[in-house]
Amino acid sequence: MTQPTFSGSDDLPLDEDPQVYKTLLESTRAIPWKIDWQTLTFSYIGPQIEALLGWPRDSWTGIQDWAERMHPEDRDRVVNFCVAQSKAGSDHEADYRALTAAGDYVWIRDVVHVVRTPDGEVDCLIGFMFDISERKKTEERLLSLQKELEELSFKDGLTGVPNRRLFDSTLEQEWASARRNRQPLSLILLDIDFFKQYNDYYGHIAGDDCLRQVADILGGAATRAKDFMARFGGEEFVLLLPETNAEAAATVAERCRQLIFKAQIAHSSSPIAPVLTVSLGVGTLVPTHDDDVRHFIEAVDRQLYTAKAQGRNRIVGL
Ligand code: GH3
Ligand code: MG
Ligand code: MG
Repeated sequence: MTQPTFSGSDDLPLDEDPQVYKTLLESTRAIPWKIDWQTLTFSYIGPQIEALLGWPRDSWTGIQDWAERMHPEDRDRVVNFCVAQSKAGSDHEADYRALTAAGDYVWIRDVVHVVRTPDGEVDCLIGFMFDISERKKTEERLLSLQKELEELSFKDGLTGVPNRRLFDSTLEQEWASARRNRQPLSLILLDIDFFKQYNDYYGHIAGDDCLRQVADILGGAATRAKDFMARFGGEEFVLLLPETNAEAAATVAERCRQLIFKAQIAHSSSPIAPVLTVSLGVGTLVPTHDDDVRHFIEAVDRQLYTAKAQGRNRIVGL
């Protein structure tokens, strides 16, 4: 192994040789600097600054250069913080985006040590600038992954519409709100007719495509801002219609049925039509403290069952 070589003088012990310190400081990836507190000027900045930001070393004269070469969104926060900490004599650190000579920004972490005179006055600031762009990139990636995960957990993976989980929490909120405001709340349960036969005939992949198509169509069926549609599970979808009475809910249900029928999705193995059809159960109530949200869903599900039993491709309401 080769030993590190220092260009120090021979007659000084290593730890007293300024040349050793200089070599050490200027060969690290962190960029050292020193600011005189009286004049607020740089008395030193490592030559590495030029490789990182592109500005010549001798262009760093005072703290105004430092402040001006900072992203405008970071400037006030960082300058005010660093000045306050320095005045208080506290060591500190700050992250900010530094402007490069080429006009880009590099994320920097400045770690600052406040040096005092023997009588306690602030004498100078010395510190290191670290290039933390990679760390920031990782943080940003993590944040966006986290956001994606949150979205995924409320979104049905197959169709991209809200999933059962989001439906459950939305229903809970709307139920409470309808009860508070004594407003009618309507629920539509929709089930694709003979979907087992569809899968058997066209295959599961085509079945998945069909579910996406149905989800797309239903997404456009309810038009009011508070209307909510979700995949309830399997080949069943649900629409929750706040402040909607039975008559209006029946209109929306009929619109759903017709939109699916008019899409003319071929279903050769359906015993009732050459195209895909759906059956729907509808219910409306103004919830009171005596009502139970699960009983309401079960009652609407029974309507759906009746629609199936009566021949499918129809709507049955409470
Ligand atoms: P009915 O109209 O009377 O309800 O009959 P059906 O065949 O639609 O109902 P059944 O409950 O017998 O079958 C539902 C089928 O839906 C069976 C299941 O494989 C299919 N299915 C449920 N989820 C998915 C899915 O995510 N993708 C595909 N391709 N098929 C699904
Ligand atoms: Mg079903
Ligand atoms: Mg079905």
